[in-house]
Formats: sequence, structure tokens, C-alpha cells
Amino acid sequence: MAYFDNNATTPLAGTVFEAFQTALEKGWANPSSPYRQAARVRAEISRARDQLAAAFGVNASHLTFVSGATESNNAVFSYFAHKSSNDSRVLISSIEHPSVSAPAKWYFPDRVDLLETDGKGIVSLEALESFLQSENKTILVSIMAASNETGVLQPWQEAAKLCRAHGVHFHCDSSQWIGKLPHDDFSLCSSFVCSGHKFGAPKGIGLLVGEDAMPFFHGGGQEEGRRGGTESYPSIEAMGCAMKGVEGTLAQLPQRAHWRDSFETALKSVLPQVRILGCESPRLWNTSCFIAPQFENLRWVGKLDKLGFEISTGSACSTAKDELTPSASAFSLTSEETRRILRVSSYFEQDQKDWQSLADAFQSAFDELSEEASASPVISL
Ligand code: PLP
Repeated sequence: MAYFDNNATTPLAGTVFEAFQTALEKGWANPSSPYRQAARVRAEISRARDQLAAAFGVNASHLTFVSGATESNNAVFSYFAHKSSNDSRVLISSIEHPSVSAPAKWYFPDRVDLLETDGKGIVSLEALESFLQSENKTILVSIMAASNETGVLQPWQEAAKLCRAHGVHFHCDSSQWIGKLPHDDFSLCSSFVCSGHKFGAPKGIGLLVGEDAMPFFHGGGQEEGRRGGTESYPSIEAMGCAMKGVEGTLAQLPQRAHWRDSFETALKSVLPQVRILGCESPRLWNTSCFIAPQFENLRWVGKLDKLGFEISTGSACSTAKDELTPSASAFSLTSEETRRILRVSSYFEQDQKDWQSLADAFQSAFDELSEEASASPVISL
């Protein structure tokens, strides 16, 4: 099978499985226990924390190990809801992942402002600046780094600087950026997140990185009292190993973006009416999100699956849900168009040949779907 759904999750990378297994075997003791075996696990966690902090250029005490980006995003909104007054507000972009937009609405009911995107799927820095200058009670701004659906990159560095200049906490959902693009600038953000399974680590491990100590799980006192609960040392070790692997690969990016672009050119010759979302904007090198001119997305997914290619419909958490996804709203899609959205996303395993084969598979899937449609009296989408 050729796997093209890496924005949903990635398989364990290279040596990660070995690192994970060794840590499971040798580091199973509870790191909070009082004997030497436990102290060794504590020391390994501390080493992994230092290594990850160095990768992001931040202080190790700013890192909290969590289960993933959803937990981190929830933790930030929950923390600010508890520490702020009842009339304080939050500003989020209109294309945030549900793990940001849902806690924003949950913890700040009727007190969420939306920063809209332009026709290219990018938030407006002018709109952000004038919002920050206006009289309002905004305590937290949250903007994603890269869209999980279209791959469109947001100007989060500039947004972070603007918020800092106005003394407002800037949180960045950087789940899709980290592991795909250089991550040196994230220290500009007041807080950001990291989801291990997006870059070759197991599911269930990630980071919340923040200048403020934001305690959110109480009881147990782990992570300096910020997140109670026994640490999963094997997962932490695996994430550190995956991050090391990523750091060696970030030089190959221009070539990889070229493979994706060639796929899109080939796709346009199969489907001349295809609309590629975000293609005029800076995008993640691995992502192509488009509206097929014909046939519902799940029919394409099924056909391609049988042909040996795993692709997705917009985003994993929207599959089979009949609602507009954030990017569908950003690009003013109708709900009918939304049912034709497809997303393909590679990672470091996929090479130029895989992208070419994927384009060929689209041709075969199109031929089969067209044949079925002409044999059926029912008009298909
Ligand atoms: N934010 C974005 C942009 C994502 O793409 C995802 C996962 O798809 C998440 C948050 C949630 O990540 P996790 O699975 O680590 O909770």
C-alpha cells in the first residue's frame, strides 16, 4: 500500500520502534518511585526533555509532556478560563482545528472572536493588529501554524510578535508544522504544541511548551505540578528519537515540494476541472487538498484504497461528518463541494515514484468511476 494520509498520522519512523521497545523493557519503573531503577528513568526523562528543549531553543522547564495536541490545546484554554475574569475574551482564527475551536467555545462561551482568512486561506495580520489595538478584553490569541487540511502556512511568527508587543498571550497549534518544517522560531510564541504521532512517534505523546507554568491536571505533582499523572517514559523516549530523525531530513524539502507539485500537474491532466485549495499560498511541502470535479470523496477513497493508495477526505476528524470543515468555510465551499474534498499527504517515506503512481491511480479510479456512472441510471455527484 502507498500511504498518503500522513497529516492524520505517521507510522513509527526508522529507529523509533527500537527506542520505544528498549525503553518499555528497561524503563518500566514509575519515575516517581524512591529507588535507583526509578531514578534512572527520571534521569532519562530529564535527558529527553533537555534534548527536545534544545531542538526548540527553549528552556527545558517550559516543556510539559502530554498525550498530544488536543490535550495541550484544551489545557491552554482551561488554564486561561480559570485565571481570568468572566468578561475576558479569546481570539482564534476561523480555520482552527476542533481541538482549539471547541475548547475556546467551551471555556469562553459567547466570548470567542474569530480572525477570518483571506481568499487564499491566510489570516490577516492587519486585522489582527487592529483587533489588538481596539478596546477589548482579549487575553489569548490562538492561530495555527499550518492547516491540517490544506497545508496552508499562517504568518504565526509575525502574529506572535504583534501579540507580544500588545502583552497578549499568543498560542500556536503547531501540530502540523513540527516535524515537517524547521522549528527554530517557536520560542517567539508564548505557548505552542507538538504531537508526536505527526512525525514518527507513537500516538499518545506530545508536548505543551509554554513560558507560563500552566497547571491543568491536578494531583500527583508530576511535571512540576503542571500535569499530574505517571509519565510515559517509553513514549517520551520514542518522541525524542523521532525528533532527532526529523532534524536530519529538513534539508530535502524543496525537492519534496516539487514531487507534490508534479503530482498536481498530472492530476490536472486527469481532472482538468479540479480545484486545488491553497495552491497560491505558501503550503506544507507534503499536502495537496482539492475538490474533485465529480464523484463523492468517499467513492474516490474506496477506489484508491482498492488500488493500493490510502488517502483522505479533508481531515481525519471530519471523515463522514456532514458539516463544513474550517477550510471549507475559509474557501467558501458549498456543502456539496465539501463532499468532494480529497486530501493527500506524504511524509519522508514517500518518494517521487509514489507520487507519480498516485497520479496514475487517480486516472484508473476516474476511469472506473466514470464507467460505473455511465452504467448507472442514477446521476452521481
Ligand atoms: N491540531 C491539528 C492542526 C491537528 O492536525 C491535529 C491532529 O490531527 C490535532 C491538533 C490533534 O492532535 P492529537 O492527535 O495529537 O491530539
